Amino acid sequence: MFDWLIVNGRVIDGTGRPPFFADVGVVGDKIAAVGQLFHAEAKNRIDAMGKFVAPGFIDIHTHFDITLLVHPEAYCSISQGVTTVVIGNCGHSPVPIVEKRRSELRQLLSVIEAGIEWRWEKFGEFLDDLEAVRPAVNVIPLVGHCALRASVVGFENRPAKTDELKAMQRLMEECMDEGAWGLSSGLIYPPSAFASIDELVTLNEVVARRGGIYATHMRSESDALLTAVVEALQTAIRSGVKLQISHHKASRKPNWGKVEVTLQLIERAALSHDVNFDAYPYTAGSANLSQLLPLWAFEGGPSAMLRRLKDKHQRQQILEALESDKSLKWDKVLVASVASDEYRPFQGKAVTEIANQLGLSPAETVLHLIEHEQNAVTMVWFVMDERDVERVLTHPLCLIGSDALTIPHPIEPRPSSLAPRPVSNAPYVHPRTYGTFPKVLRWLVKETGKLTWHEAIAKMAGKTAEKLGMKKRGLVREGYFADLVVFDPERVRDCATYENPHLPAEGIEWVFVNGVPALANGQLTGERTGQVLRFDSSH
Ligand SMILES: [Zn+2]
Repeated sequence: MFDWLIVNGRVIDGTGRPPFFADVGVVGDKIAAVGQLFHAEAKNRIDAMGKFVAPGFIDIHTHFDITLLVHPEAYCSISQGVTTVVIGNCGHSPVPIVEKRRSELRQLLSVIEAGIEWRWEKFGEFLDDLEAVRPAVNVIPLVGHCALRASVVGFENRPAKTDELKAMQRLMEECMDEGAWGLSSGLIYPPSAFASIDELVTLNEVVARRGGIYATHMRSESDALLTAVVEALQTAIRSGVKLQISHHKASRKPNWGKVEVTLQLIERAALSHDVNFDAYPYTAGSANLSQLLPLWAFEGGPSAMLRRLKDKHQRQQILEALESDKSLKWDKVLVASVASDEYRPFQGKAVTEIANQLGLSPAETVLHLIEHEQNAVTMVWFVMDERDVERVLTHPLCLIGSDALTIPHPIEPRPSSLAPRPVSNAPYVHPRTYGTFPKVLRWLVKETGKLTWHEAIAKMAGKTAEKLGMKKRGLVREGYFADLVVFDPERVRDCATYENPHLPAEGIEWVFVNGVPALANGQLTGERTGQVLRFDSSH
């Protein structure tokens, strides 16, 4: 007797194999059978006539570390068919950290902030807390290099000494023992940016030995893109680590088209090494507003940066650096979330518009906002060419990752009424938060035919699980965990836009996480059956 039986649907199994007619039976948290099961007995039956039955999507790039603790329902993920999220990307993770450097790290990583106390030192302590909130999605944690380096070296711009390198290696090992799946770097973010390639190789040797992955937000995604790709590939080749290039793109107009070259470089490396990249289907990125500032402004940490803004001479230098940046178009930079109630009306507005309102120049406006919000201000900026985005996403080595910064609004009140309803002052978010996976299906499969259904699903599940080394996940196959999504190919589409980003997708009907529906007939069930997946080096 099955607990759940999904009949009459077409299975896209996640391997890249074309769809085939089969019923799927679930017992407990596992897929018990895939085949002709129509006459079998089951406690619950779903008629999936005309629908696809696919493995739950794996979002290889999120920043949900802290917001998962606050919004464990993860509605933005579940509603687009995502059953597993990778956290700790771009060098950003709240652990490991030593107490005396915690508040500085927190201010630095304000994009993942959720207004709760950070009280963890060890990696495993944080995972225990994640487990305790019972997230709706499975979680795969990475160690952020910002935290690792802050723990041992601090926030200064200098090479790590030999004993510090050893200490970071030991700490990395400890984190992997406690469940980390690998390391992420954010080489435009201090203090990760202060590391040399040699440091990254040394740390990744530890990761490689245990079969983990290295995800990198590279040193440049614009003018120095090619050098940055070479550095990432060299890091992987020298250390032997599995490489995942994060949110691959060519940022800013003078660099558009460069991905043609980077894709060739990556392809060549992939002949002998485990190399992939990920992307989201939008031409705008999203990050902390202070990312626009020159790196030197951050030497010593975010509080040093804020002090520099108070110093007349240094403020002027920062301002000049911002103003001399001619490829920056201020009307293409929107302020996303802010920390203060006072500036909440600026959310979703272009810097030019805010500048007019404040009577400041655009560059001055940026500095003013960073100061006023104490660095807790994010942006959405239009920096990519759609042809590049398409070229990257349709490449066979590309996996799908949303790069979503936070899980937005809670579902109120909890837990009885589960209709998603934005809280009145919900922060502005990038539409990728709700739309990444269905947009790939709508845009690249349905509208342009650049990908087949099965190619797209493989990028969202099977290939991703293989990359990460997940056991028994990412495919619709007997004996695998029942992470499943049932969707309607006619109706599936993203609804979130830049104007109205808080809209869940359409056509995603059922989402199972470990055998339990988190979404049923398109509605949240309130079940939270995700697992914090701790890395096991026997992978
Ligand atoms: Zn990043």
